[in-house]
Amino acid sequence: MNLGQYLWRNGTFIKNEEANISLINHALHYGSGAFEGIRFYETQKGPAIFRLYEHMKRLHYSAKIIELKIPYSAEELCDVTIELLQKNNIQSGYIRPVAMFGTGKMGLNPHGANIDTFIAAWPWGKYLSDTPISVGISPWIRIHPKSLQCDAKINGHYVNSIISSQWAHNNDYQEALLLDFEGNLAEGPGENLFLVKNKKLYTPKLGTILAGITRSTIMELAKNELNIETEEKTLTKDDLFDADEAFFTGTAAEITIIESVNEIQIGNQGNEISNELKDLYHDTVTGTLKKYDKWMHHVNPYPLNKK
Ligand code: PMP
Repeated sequence: MNLGQYLWRNGTFIKNEEANISLINHALHYGSGAFEGIRFYETQKGPAIFRLYEHMKRLHYSAKIIELKIPYSAEELCDVTIELLQKNNIQSGYIRPVAMFGTGKMGLNPHGANIDTFIAAWPWGKYLSDTPISVGISPWIRIHPKSLQCDAKINGHYVNSIISSQWAHNNDYQEALLLDFEGNLAEGPGENLFLVKNKKLYTPKLGTILAGITRSTIMELAKNELNIETEEKTLTKDDLFDADEAFFTGTAAEITIIESVNEIQIGNQGNEISNELKDLYHDTVTGTLKKYDKWMHHVNPYPLNKK
């Protein structure tokens, strides 16, 4: 992994090799942090970060769930992210902001621990495959909404995603699909799920899933560009196997079309709508579809075009 030369941490830019943490660190032991995953793309006007502000707002939301007060506003975090990309001079890739309880306290209640906020960036290509993938239904269910706040991106929650991904890999699937505690469709380890049926989109309603920013982007693109509505509802395994098409959405995974689930092919109609949405998403994030410039934070010129 080729990390950018600089990181931003607690108000200053530091070189990667200067970045370290104590081994007695609350988040390291217990997962008491919040994080984000953001992509930036090469556009005609130089690199642009996609929906940066929404990601930083969600970081604040997630942090609030664990009573972690990030000492920087979402706007301030957007500004330093842009500066970080300028300093690192990377044209496209991934941004990882983390806010966590650090040193100074080891009991399970983290209050009293120092708050450590940092942002890293690195070039990153495809997360999953560009071609349709095989998916397996994970024996691990998505975290229960009465155990943890499912729509918060909290570090410790991701053990659920890790063991599901490992299960998929060990069983020769390219990705896992998690059901919720009632056996309904939830999401992938790091992706939301969409089904296409009779030229309409369906996606699991919020409650046990992360409110994906790509999920909301796709709903808006489908409506505006293809005149296709998305229904957010409880979806079952029967809905999945009866669907004409299925795909995952996520910042890292972008739009990844699902070929089969548990070795059963999904639909047989050539994934027409999924492919159209995939192309629209690509054109949006790379700035070809000018109308969605509202979602782009251009890295140049500086000072910023605040959104
Ligand atoms: N679900 C989970 C569990 C995730 O980790 C992610 C990635 N952030 C998503 C869905 C997709 O969210 P987004 O589109 O905001 O990246």
